[in-house]
Amino acid sequence: MVKKSLCGSTAEEIFDLIGSSGFSFAHAVSISNSIYKKRISDISKFEQIPRQLKEKLLKISYSGIYSPLSSEVSEDKSVKYLFRSETGKEFETVYIPDNRRNTVCVSTQSGCRMGCSFCVTGRYGYKGNLTAGEMVNQIIGITQAERITHIVFMGMGEPMDNLEEVLKACNIITAEWGLALSSRNVTVSTVGIMPGVLKFLQRSDCNLTLSIYSPFSEERKKFIPAENHYPVQNIIEVMKTFPVKKKRRLSLAYVMIKDLNDTEGHLEKLKYILKGSSIRVNLLPYNPGLNDQNCSSSPEKMHFFKHNLIVSGISASIRKSRGADISAACGLLAIR
Ligand code: SF4
Repeated sequence: MVKKSLCGSTAEEIFDLIGSSGFSFAHAVSISNSIYKKRISDISKFEQIPRQLKEKLLKISYSGIYSPLSSEVSEDKSVKYLFRSETGKEFETVYIPDNRRNTVCVSTQSGCRMGCSFCVTGRYGYKGNLTAGEMVNQIIGITQAERITHIVFMGMGEPMDNLEEVLKACNIITAEWGLALSSRNVTVSTVGIMPGVLKFLQRSDCNLTLSIYSPFSEERKKFIPAENHYPVQNIIEVMKTFPVKKKRRLSLAYVMIKDLNDTEGHLEKLKYILKGSSIRVNLLPYNPGLNDQNCSSSPEKMHFFKHNLIVSGISASIRKSRGADISAACGLLAIR
């Protein structure tokens, strides 16, 4: 008999496991609380369930909570973790403390098959999808789990390429019986895979951010091959017209590369395609990989973009780069 991982299971799925033996949905919620809120990896120590239920669980399931293999600490106190799943897939997770906002950057795949030219993860290749349990364990399996306030699905992988498991992980993270985080504090990032974006917008309340690199389709194709199938303008049109619930945030991530995508022409095109929308633009410094001749736009150029977007009525902010010295920054995760 194949044992089931409790981490990655919904309360309903746990009830399906135990209901036929006379246990109630309230017992399933107690089990969920032991896993997701108390992060107890030893089933015999689960709280508020009878001994007979623990014995049954030990026969048919395992907690699915495990620790990372190793970690590296950045000068800015970000921590990069390396995990290996029970099936041998390796993937990285980054914990980013910032005053009262503590974020975990979660991977959704081991590697990635999107092949974006500026991304080191893309060059690492694709080793497999992660399960919802493997995603949630990146949050509850690290030592700072108790302090986490925000989750971003921006680690290794394209979330829309593993959408069902990502949706399930978002459900577990935001459910009362799960981690009970607000969907406003959970953001999923994509390079824009249209079928996935549509499903995600309809089936989740979590935030969505679209990584664009360039507002010009022909140029974007050189950076992001997915542009050949799903033009960025069409994705932005969907984001502009989708009826979003109050406080749900749809945004663009614009990584700024000196002399490549930071010209006035890029700025004007960005303003044009975002006109009249409430989509926010997050401007990010570029993190060059090894032997990369490109470098980030200057802080002055980034402020110029931000100022111009704001005076055009487009919400914009500049995000700091975190963990670059340990290759934990955006686009640098690649298992060394
Ligand atoms: S940028 Fe994202 S989608 Fe593109 S290769 Fe890197 S991880 Fe994959």
